[in-house]
Amino acid sequence: RRRVRVLVQTPEEGRVLVQTPEGGRMQTVTLIPGDGIGPEISTAVMKIFEAAKAPIQWEEKNVTAIKGPGGKWIIPPEAKESMDKNKIGLKGPLKTPIAAGHPSMNLLLRKTFDLYANVRPCMSIEGYKTPYTDVDLVTIRENTEGEYSGIEHTIVDGVVQSIKLITEDASRKIAEYAFEYAKNNQRASVTAVHKANIMRMSDGLFLRKCRQVAENYRDIKFTEMYLDTVCLNMVQDPTQFDVLVMPNLYGDILSDLCAGLIGGLGVTPSGNIGANNVAIFESVHGTAPDIAGLDLANPTALLLSAVMMLRHMGMHDYSKKIETACFNTIRDKKVLTGDLGGKSKCSEFTAEICQRV
Ligand code: NAD
Repeated sequence: RRRVRVLVQTPEEGRVLVQTPEGGRMQTVTLIPGDGIGPEISTAVMKIFEAAKAPIQWEEKNVTAIKGPGGKWIIPPEAKESMDKNKIGLKGPLKTPIAAGHPSMNLLLRKTFDLYANVRPCMSIEGYKTPYTDVDLVTIRENTEGEYSGIEHTIVDGVVQSIKLITEDASRKIAEYAFEYAKNNQRASVTAVHKANIMRMSDGLFLRKCRQVAENYRDIKFTEMYLDTVCLNMVQDPTQFDVLVMPNLYGDILSDLCAGLIGGLGVTPSGNIGANNVAIFESVHGTAPDIAGLDLANPTALLLSAVMMLRHMGMHDYSKKIETACFNTIRDKKVLTGDLGGKSKCSEFTAEICQRV
C-alpha cells in the first residue's frame, strides 16, 4: 500500500486527490463492499486495479442503515462524510432486510445523494453466448420521480391511487445528462422513450423538455419513440439503438431487458449520477447469498462498473486497459466462473485478468 502525503482538492469538481511519495496523484474513491458476495467481488476489483496501477485509493465504508435522530433511517454519518468528500463511490450489492419498516439501502443512497440519473451501458461481450451480438447501447433512466415518487393513497375502500409525478426540472436535467453523455462518449444518437400519446400531460412534458434540450446538441441525432415500439424493435434488432433516455418506470423495466440482451445482470455495469458531482457506480445484481463466501462469484459486473467509474473520472487509458483484459479473458474461455459457463473460482478469474492488464 502506498503511503499518503498530501491531500489536494481538485478545483473544478471538488474531488479529493492524494499526492503519492513517488510524485504521482491518486484519487480517493469511497468503496462500499456490500453484503453477501460483495466483499469477494470488491477484493477482486481492488486486485485488478492494483495490477493495472490505476491511480485510485479506496476508502472502505459500511453503509448498513442505522436509525438517526427522530428514528429516521439514515446511512452511517461516516459513510456519508466519505461520499461528500470523495464525490465518487463504488458499491457492491446490499441486502434489503425483510424486517418491517427497514428501508431499501439502494433507495436510501439514491435519496441521500440525489442520484437523479441511472446509467447502464449494455455491450455484447465477444465469446459469451447471448441471444444477440453487437449490442452497444446505453439506457439513461430518470431516477427520482415518475411512478416511483411514492405518492399513493386509498380513495375509497377498494380503490387506490398512485400518482405519477413528472416535473419540468427533473425532465430537463435527465435530458441534459443524456445529451452530455452522448457528446462525451462519442455517441451518435439519443432516443427519448415515452408514452405521450396516452400520458399526454406527464410524458408530454418529459418529451417537450427532451426536444428543447436536443436543440442545443445539433450534432447528435434526436429521435422519439413510444415505449411499446422500442420494445418491439429492441428484440428484433437492438443494434439500431444508441443512447435511450426515459422516465423512471420505463427505465427500470427497459434497462433489465437490455441487460438480458448481453447476458444478464452478472455482466451489466451501472452508474448513478447525482447532484453536486456525486456519482456511485454499482453492480446491479444482488448479494447472491447462495454462493457467498465460496469464491464462486463472478466479479465482472462490479469490475465493469469500476471501469465506467474510471471513464466518468476521465481516466480513459486505465478504463480501456482493464475493460480489454476482462473482455479478452471471457472471449478466450479458458478461465471462467460458473455463471459464465466455466469451472474457475472468482480468485482464479481475477488472477487471469490481473495477468492481462
Ligand atoms: P441475486 O442477484 O442476489 O441472485 C440471483 C441469482 O443470481 C443467484 O442464483 C445468484 O447466485 C446469482 N448471481 C447473482 N450475482 C452473481 C454473480 N456476481 N456471480 C455469480 N452468480 C450471481 O438476487 P436475489 O437472490 O433476489 O437477492 C438477494 C439479496 O440481494 C436480497 O436481499 C436483495 O434485496 C438484494 N439485492 C440487492 C441489489 C443491489 O444492491 N443493487 C440488487 C438486487 C437484489
